[in-house]
Parts: sequence; C-alpha cells; structure tokens
Amino acid sequence: MKSAARVVVIGGGVVGASVLYHLTRAGWRDVLLIERGELTCGSTWHAAGGMHTVNGDPNVAKLQQYTINLYKELERITGQSCGMHLTGGIMLAGTRARLDWLKMAKARGRYLGMELELITVDEAAKLFPLMDKRHFVGALFDPIEGHVDPWGVTQAYAKAAQSAGAEVVRHTRVVDLKARSDASWDVITEDGNVHAEHVVNAGGLWAREVGRMVGLELPILAMEHQYLITEDIPALKGQKEQLHCIDFEGEIYTRQERGGMLLGTYERAGVPWSPATTPWDFQQSLLPNDLERIAPSLEVGFEHFPALAEVGIRKVVNGPFTFAPDGNPLVGPVRGLQNFWVACGVMAGFSQGGGVGLALAQWMVEGDPGADVWAMDVARYGDWATLAYTNAKVRENYSRRFRIRFPNEELPAARPLRTTPVYERLEAAHAVFGDYCALEHALWFAPSAAEASEEITFHRSSAHAHVATECRAVAEAVGLLEISNYGKFEVTGAGAEGWLSHIMANRVPKAGRIALTPMLNERGKLIGDFTMCRLTHDRVFLICTYAAEDYYRRWFERYAPAAGVTVRPCAMQYVGLSVAGPHSRTLLQGLTRSDLSSSAFPFLSFRQMDIGMVPALVGRISFTGELGYEIWVTTEYQRALYDLLREAGRAHGLRLFGGRALNAMRIEKSFGTWAREYRPIYGPYEAGLGRFVDLAKGEFVGRAAALEEKESGGKLRLATFTVDGADADAIGDEPIWHDGRVVGWVTSGAYGHRAQRSLALGYVPLALAEVIDGFEIEIIGERRRARRESAALIDPSGALMRA
Ligand SMILES: Cc1cc2nc3c(=O)[nH]c(=O)nc-3n(C[C@H](O)[C@H](O)[C@H](O)COP(=O)(O)OP(=O)(O)OC[C@H]3O[C@@H](n4cnc5c(N)ncnc54)[C@H](O)[C@@H]3O)c2cc1C
Repeated sequence: MKSAARVVVIGGGVVGASVLYHLTRAGWRDVLLIERGELTCGSTWHAAGGMHTVNGDPNVAKLQQYTINLYKELERITGQSCGMHLTGGIMLAGTRARLDWLKMAKARGRYLGMELELITVDEAAKLFPLMDKRHFVGALFDPIEGHVDPWGVTQAYAKAAQSAGAEVVRHTRVVDLKARSDASWDVITEDGNVHAEHVVNAGGLWAREVGRMVGLELPILAMEHQYLITEDIPALKGQKEQLHCIDFEGEIYTRQERGGMLLGTYERAGVPWSPATTPWDFQQSLLPNDLERIAPSLEVGFEHFPALAEVGIRKVVNGPFTFAPDGNPLVGPVRGLQNFWVACGVMAGFSQGGGVGLALAQWMVEGDPGADVWAMDVARYGDWATLAYTNAKVRENYSRRFRIRFPNEELPAARPLRTTPVYERLEAAHAVFGDYCALEHALWFAPSAAEASEEITFHRSSAHAHVATECRAVAEAVGLLEISNYGKFEVTGAGAEGWLSHIMANRVPKAGRIALTPMLNERGKLIGDFTMCRLTHDRVFLICTYAAEDYYRRWFERYAPAAGVTVRPCAMQYVGLSVAGPHSRTLLQGLTRSDLSSSAFPFLSFRQMDIGMVPALVGRISFTGELGYEIWVTTEYQRALYDLLREAGRAHGLRLFGGRALNAMRIEKSFGTWAREYRPIYGPYEAGLGRFVDLAKGEFVGRAAALEEKESGGKLRLATFTVDGADADAIGDEPIWHDGRVVGWVTSGAYGHRAQRSLALGYVPLALAEVIDGFEIEIIGERRRARRESAALIDPSGALMRA
C-alpha cells in the first residue's frame, strides 16, 4: 500500500467503488480505496440488486436515471458484466389514493423525461400475469427498471477506476483518522499509515464507526431486511423474464430470480441491527431468518400473487443495510472537518450509487456537486439528529417505505422532541403541530380540541376552512405567529460588513435597517436567501431557513474571514413571535415606548426595544406581505411576550395563525422560499431576486456569473399562476404545460384565501416568461387551466407592508 494519496476512500461497497471511479473520471488519479475485507463484504453482496428511477425528490430521481444509464458504459469500459436485467417494472395500486399517487409520480416524471405510463389492471395483468387482478385498481409502468448483479457492478466500478490509475487495497482496516494542521489526514490502518489530502467515508454499515473516528455522530442506522427466493414456478418456464413489481398495499417488491421469484418486504415491525455500534467481525455475513416477522406481508403477497404460494421457498436472505432518518443518502463535505467527505446512508445503492459517486467526485474536484443535491446533502441534519432520534425516525421510515406520504401528513415518531417555551400555550389553543428539524411548530389552529386533527389527503382537508379564518384575521385585523423555526446567525465584529458584503449579493444595510439578499455560489446560483438585519455598525443578524443552518455554516467556513468577524448560529437562542395585519402597529405601539409610526420606524427597520418588560429585537417586516413585525427575544422571555401580545391583542381582534396560513399568504405575494423556489439550480434573475443583487457594490462571490445571467436573461423564470382548481391545489413538483407540451414545473402551491384563488409558483422557460394564457398545471393527473399572473395576487405594489 502506498504511503500517500490525494484521496483515501474508506470502504469498497458499491458506493465507495463508485466514488473511486468518478474521482478518476473527474481527473484525480492518485486515489486509493481501502477495504477491510473483500469488495462488497458489507451490505452490498447480498442485495437484491433492484434499480428504479422513481423517487420522491425529482433531483434524486435524476441521479437515479444517471446511475442506471451508467452500467452499460461501465461494461463497455471494463468488459466486466454488471449482470443487467432491464426488465421494466410496474407499480401496482390497490386503492384510489395510491392511484392518485401514481398519477402524481407519472406527472412528475414528465418533466424529468421519464416514460412512465399509467395502465389499467387488465393491461398490468398482461404484462405481469402472476398478479391477481382483484386486488388492484391500476398501475404505473416504467420501462427503466430492473436489477443488476451487486458484485459485478462493484467490480466494474473498481476495475474502471483501476484502469485509470486508482489503487484498491483489500483486507486492510482503517482503524483511526488523525487530522493534521494543514487540513490533510493521517489514515491509520492495520497495515501502516497513509497520508491523504482528502478522506471519503464510504463505510456503509460501518460509516457510523468511521465517523466516530473524527468525532462525528452520523444519523444513520442499519435495519434488518429480508427477501426470499421461491423454487421454480412452472408458469414461468419458457416465458420472457418477468417485470419488476411493487405492490404498495402488500408492501412487497418482487422480481424473477432464475426460474423462481424473489420477494422482499419492508415490514411494519422492522428491526434495527446493531443500534449503537456495528461489530467489526461481521463480514460477508447474514442474519438469522425471521419469517415470522414478515409473515403478515408474505400472507398478502401470496394472496396477491398466488403462483408464489404454490411453490416452496428455496432461500431466505436477511441482511442489514443503512438508512438516514428520511431514507435519502448522506453525501458531501462535513462542516467543521476540512477535507472530510461522506457518501453513506445509501439505501438504494444500485439506483443511487452512480449519482452519489458523480456528485461527490464533482464536489471534491470542482468545489461544487454540479447538481442540486440538497435532498441528500449531509448538511440537512444538525446536531439534533441524535442516535436515539435517528433510531426512531429510521424505524418509522423503513416501515413506511411503500406507504403514501400525503402532503398534509405529519409523522409521529420522535415527537415532540424540541419545543419552544410557548409550546404548551399553543397546544392549549388547539394548535395542530408540524415537525421541522425536530422542532414543533403550529401549522394551524382548530376551534376546539376535538377538531384539532386532520384527515390525510391530496385534496383540501378539514383544515382548509380554519386556515381561511386565520388568513382573514391577518388581512382584516391582526394575527400572531410563532417564528422560532427560522434560522438565525449573529455576525459581529469590525469586519462584519466587509465579510457579509463579500459573501452576500446585496449591499449590507445601514445600522437600523433590513435588506434581503440572495447568497450565490461561484457559478452564480442560489445557495441561500437571507434577511440581513443590521442592529449596529458591527452587529448584524441574519434570518434564514433553519433546515439549511449547517449548509450555510459549511459555506461560511469555506469563506471564513481571516479575523475581525465572529459568526454565531443562534437559532434557538432567539425565538420569535410575529404580528401581522392592519392592526399590528396599534397593538404593538400600545406595548412599547419606542415610536412605531411609519416615519420613525418605516418598513425594513430593525431596532432593539422593550415590549412591555421584554427586551426585544424588532424588525418591521412580515412574510405575509401585510403590515407586520418580527419580534426576536431570548428564550426566557418568549412566554411573557406571548402572554402580553395575546392579552393586549384581544382589543384588536388578534388571532393565532400557523405555518399553513403563512405559506398561502407568501404565495399570494409571490414570495419564494429556500428549497422550493430557491435552489442551487436557479440564478437570482431567474428566481425574480434580481432586485436584491447589487452588481455596483464591488466584488462578491458569484458576481461575474450573476452579471452574465443578467445580461443573457438566464434560461428560466419563476412565475405565479392562478389555477382553475377544483378541490385540490398544487403542492409542488407538478408539471406545467403550455400548448400541449410540458414546459416547466411547480415549486409551491396553495389556496390563496385572501385572493380566493388556487395558486402555484413555478419555473417556465424564459421565452414563455411574458405569456399569460395557454398554461395548464397537472394536479393529481388532471390538467387544470392556469393563467400566469404578471404581478403578485395581493398588494402588488407593496403598499400594505409599507403603510
Ligand atoms: C437484503 C438486502 C436487499 C437489498 N436490496 C437492494 C436492492 O434491491 N436495490 C438496491 O439498490 N439496494 C438494495 N439493498 C441495499 C444495498 O445493499 C445498499 O444500498 C448498498 O450495499 C450500500 O453500499 P455501501 O457501499 O454504502 O455500503 P457497504 O456495502 O456496507 O460497504 C461498505 C464497505 O466499507 C468497508 N469498511 C467499513 N469500514 C471500514 C474501515 N474502517 N476500513 C476499511 N473498510 C471499511 C466495509 O467492509 C464494506 O465493504 C439491499 C440490502 C439488503 C441488506
């Protein structure tokens, strides 16, 4: 083994091998993979090898498409067979709701270039004769599904990498990692040390243990997973290979394996494997079978596919593989650790491994993953994702693998975990809570405890009328919203303005003022949107998206100021309440000696003031688009502030409102939000944020690319649509049609109660940016007429918030 390499990849499962190959493809050849056993000896070797393109996140779906298309290329480069069986697949719906879900998956596939086809039960039975039609109502056909040979694929990646100069060392365990002061690493193995510029943790089943070598607790957990292979089924003899099939109601997947069928299940009573530490002596091993545990699923399977019940079981496989709490991979550089990268938690290595390797290699070589990988970015989890939290969420996710997640559905595991001081008060006011980064926040308020629940549905729910009442209160009187779930940073020091000016696209406001700003990467794409609230010359608060806190911190580390600036995340130290609506000023003025008149405290002001006895930071801004204030206090004051506002608010018609009403109101105002309208695939002009980019202020990160986008106009435009909705609104990821062609996609949607219209925000090509009519938005499989609105639906001039 060599003693130095540019990169050491730890782990020779399908993921590590893919990372190695993609690094060589991106031009880094001095790369070394260290595997403690044989390649594939973790979870890879016993996988069922299934692959498919459909994924809840369109960007992950794209990477899955990439992975599947890669296998042919790998075979061509190496001559190593990947054992490809591209059979095509069907997803069977047993209920109307599932059929709706399939319609939505098909619709989403349209703008990803997938050829998904909705078919009837009869058509499905022709394609997959093993099914008993009586249990199903429809199906979705995907020609790009099948399975591969896990060993062949891993070998092919490794061979392709080796032929480009990479080295693979087997039977050598990495036992420790030590950081050097120059950000490089000593990789300590059983067989000597390697000095590496970069380390990649692709440790799969042991990724947690490798993380612990550098003080990192990765939110991943292995679950036991079983599949069985039947004896030969006479009906299959002489037939074309059977399709892959997912039976959602049965929670079963099945495919042909030689003359029999392979049948696997994500059972509800899933069992974690090695919840705290993974044994090092587990190698190319399996776990004892437990057919009892999957018996309920097998019963359904045998009923839905009777031919499988008529033959015996040839083999049962029970093996562990890892999941992150939301089931998506953990990829990217880790905040706080220089040159330390992860590619783990990959639960679908044969659909995702190629995309994961590609994204990580580009990130390492180019400094950017080259695609929108937010859904699998390791930075989406903060310190709150502890071992026990991960355990609860992974178990929940596993058991729901084939269940529908409705857009208004809140999942119960690991809750409540994080609560703010007003939690019990909101609960007493019949709040229905959602969980965001494990933090409880009110979604909407029911009139009574009995009504504080909601049926899960793709259509408008029982909450609709209550959200309407909340929006009306904000529009006509005043609403009170808890806003603790925003991210916050405090930037202090003499160099604060200079540093912010360099990493943000807008000019830093004067003391006492607020400015909105995009944050751009070097390619001029959106990687954040912030509200800069400048309290004093050397103290600026950044308000942003809480889920992206670690993502931002990692970026701030990359552009860390040399000296003179301190950047402190403080989301949970400053919790908040917001009042919004025409009576909000009168309400607040009655509680403070500070002059809140429009001349003394105009729109976009920010100041320290006392509200009653509570010292607070107050910004005159509201995401509702109404006259409004955001009030930030340290945690111990939040309850007192809440009580004060509620008590005083009675005289002004104050009503509590929640996240649902806020979302509807921000869409009525055409205000975008991170991870929906703002993502690293859009430029600021495309996203309608051009007015917050100050090209005249001097150099800043992404300026050259932003200038170019301004001059060229970019390729896309964010547009606001009114939709002829019936009883369902867009939720995001629906295709936008124009003149019978899919031209774009929806990023958010809701019913706008003030505008009394169904609304959607979405991207269309620049050429259609000025077109008004001829659009349609596909909602649950139905193309609904849509009209592009040239201005926000509510108060387009902004007069209300400036009043
Ligand atoms: C029963 C079963 C069925 C499955 N079916 C499918 C399927 O149909 N389709 C699909 O896409 N996925 C399937 N999977 C999941 C799939 O197996 C995983 O997604 C994939 O194997 C993950 O690969 P990996 O490289 O991340 O992890 P692993 O395969 O676990 O590889 C990690 C490697 O790192 C090595 N390593 C760890 N620590 C060290 C160290 N300190 N030093 C040196 N080496 C180290 C290990 O020895 C191991 O070889 C299935 C899994 C199971 C268990």
